[in-house]
Amino acid sequence: MPIYEFRCTCGHTFEKLCRSSDPTNPACPKCGGVSEKVFSSFSVGRSAPATGCGMGEAQPGG
Ligand SMILES: [Zn+2]
Repeated sequence: MPIYEFRCTCGHTFEKLCRSSDPTNPACPKCGGVSEKVFSSFSVGRSAPATGCGMGEAQPGG
């Protein structure tokens, strides 16, 4: 069974087994609040490749 990750409004993240995309989200085991499904799209590593966006070549301003 696939494991989905949920995130509560309180900030608590937990995983839960789901047989099939359940229409309802599980309650937060910590505070019992509403949780939202989290898609593991962005993996660890928040270092984005900085693109050229700064002072580079000096132009001979006249
Ligand atoms: Zn919570």
